[in-house]
Amino acid sequence: MRTGSASGGGGRLAAVAVVVVLGLLGAGFLLGQLTGGRDPVAKRDSPAPDRPSRARLAPPPARMPPPLPPREQPVSGPNHPPLPAEQGGPFGSRFTTGTPEVALTFDDGPHPQWTPQVLTMLADYGVKATFCLVGTKAAKYPQLVRDIAAAGHTLCNHSWDHDMALGMRDEQAVLADLERANAAIRAAVPGARISYFRQPGGFWSKRVVEAAHRLGMTSLHWRVDPQDWDSSPAYRIASDVNSQTVPGAIVLLHDGGGDRRSTLAALRTILPHLLTRFHLAALPPGRDAPRESESADSDARGGGNRWFPN
Ligand SMILES: [Zn+2]
Repeated sequence: MRTGSASGGGGRLAAVAVVVVLGLLGAGFLLGQLTGGRDPVAKRDSPAPDRPSRARLAPPPARMPPPLPPREQPVSGPNHPPLPAEQGGPFGSRFTTGTPEVALTFDDGPHPQWTPQVLTMLADYGVKATFCLVGTKAAKYPQLVRDIAAAGHTLCNHSWDHDMALGMRDEQAVLADLERANAAIRAAVPGARISYFRQPGGFWSKRVVEAAHRLGMTSLHWRVDPQDWDSSPAYRIASDVNSQTVPGAIVLLHDGGGDRRSTLAALRTILPHLLTRFHLAALPPGRDAPRESESADSDARGGGNRWFPN
């Protein structure tokens, strides 16, 4: 009897086990049907860890330190002293600010689509920068030149028509080109101080640096070049700038000369990131001191300096 009873109990246990197993299998099947087997596909679709993803463009995580507090002394503007000497760049051009401040520079504009967006983004973050303007573009879009100057950014000459061979031309041709670009900028912003020149393509020569110097301009190379002009994706531009920028770096970016969507997307990452590590400043007026420039402009034009009253 014990055996029978035992075997009867074992049968009940087996039956219960079968029901439980079937129930589990059924639930698993049902779940599979409900999810439609999407999970494995979703996993395949998610990017591999070493693949670029949009997540890299997201704002920095909350654990990043807050932006540096504002300085008591202005780091740019009409009363800021000229840049300290530095002859590190090609042919005596400079590639750092010579101070701890980092300078963002934007070349090849102004451009009606991209420049206003760059200006808005810089304003959102309270950052002043330097714009290297092409003369033909300044002549075509004078209001944009006025917008740049009115926002307190520094102006830089980027040649009349982005002549990459300018450095090989004779001295008179170089001077005429640079003067023509300056005239276009000053036609938009009377009395504008233009203290910097950047050779298109970075194809510097001794002659072009000397010509810029004769016209009161410091030749401006760069320290960080993320090649945003070369269809670089935003994540690459941002990671290059954020990883290569050191105190005093001049950073080369573009607000003209092509599709600048990637630069704009990258700026959304670059600006908050750099602001936690550096003071970002427009380059100061340079070696033509405010009073010299103002009196020269006033003498030449018979009027005051509208944009730089000091
Ligand atoms: Zn350029």
